[in-house]
Amino acid sequence: MASDRLVLGVDVGGTKIAVAALRGAEARHRIEHRTELTSTPALLNGLERTVREVIAVVGTPAAIGVGVPSQIEYSTGSVETSVNIPLAGVALRAELGRRFGVPVFVDNDANCAALAEAQLVPSDDLVMLTLGTGVGGGVIVGGRIFRGANGLGAELGHFPINADGPRCPGNCPNSGCLEAYCSGQALERDASELGRDKPRSRLARALGSDGKVSGHELVTAAEEGDPDALLVIERFGRMLGVGIAGYVNVFQPEHLAIGGGLSRASHLYFQRAVQEAATRALPALWRRVDVSLARGGADAGVIGAGVLAAQEVEEHRLAAPSERQRDTAKANTTGTEGVE
Ligand SMILES: [Zn+2]
Repeated sequence: MASDRLVLGVDVGGTKIAVAALRGAEARHRIEHRTELTSTPALLNGLERTVREVIAVVGTPAAIGVGVPSQIEYSTGSVETSVNIPLAGVALRAELGRRFGVPVFVDNDANCAALAEAQLVPSDDLVMLTLGTGVGGGVIVGGRIFRGANGLGAELGHFPINADGPRCPGNCPNSGCLEAYCSGQALERDASELGRDKPRSRLARALGSDGKVSGHELVTAAEEGDPDALLVIERFGRMLGVGIAGYVNVFQPEHLAIGGGLSRASHLYFQRAVQEAATRALPALWRRVDVSLARGGADAGVIGAGVLAAQEVEEHRLAAPSERQRDTAKANTTGTEGVE
């Protein structure tokens, strides 16, 4: 799937930017710095400095892949909106291509995480859910990221599973999305409501000065066997199972992986989710899917971004010679986006 050309993977998060060099799916010379959040230029300059640090060690890469916590129009590499970073309405691929002089590919971070997972399992047909503050998702079909017509697709967290459910906490007009049940924000909402309703409860004692029970407090209470906390987690697991059954029915993946920060608490809900999905998914499809926790660790973001860049380079290299010559000529005249 991945080529052996040298590429860079860049993972832009709300707190740090990580960059690594890749040949195949192995990340090396990883460097990370704090994400500059004061402005778009500050963020881009910080990203450029971090990438140049790695280039100084490994040399000029064939291409650079970048994962961002954003809605991306992949066909143009433009960022529509972002979560937690100052990046909106930016032609990111063109801007970074101009700065580095090599082809750059920009995608949503959950898509990149899914691509990394597909390498690690390995599997060419995989669905990945990233459970964190929100719910991200990625779908790999035939070894490639599925994105829809313009590259904005596979927002699995915003698939509605209850028409009358709670308001979606994301930047989304809907209610009852998976994200309204299976995100850190949803857990905090439910735990805080329960704490306020039951003033003598364990969760009431966990209410902070902001009037909220944190996800961490909730998990601690559940691990200690608090029935209210376990009730909140039980609903989380059940609704996750509803979502999993839906994704299995639609995509028939070979593998479905659960990742993201909340997967650290998976011992509290994973079995419940699988049990629920097993009773709901179409049996012929359910028999053929393997559901597990994600294998990718802290490097998944950079690996996925790097694999994306490698795939694009490989695809382009195998393109018709006349096409290659034309694009090489274009790259020489513009010095920016050689690979379209
Ligand atoms: Zn939503």
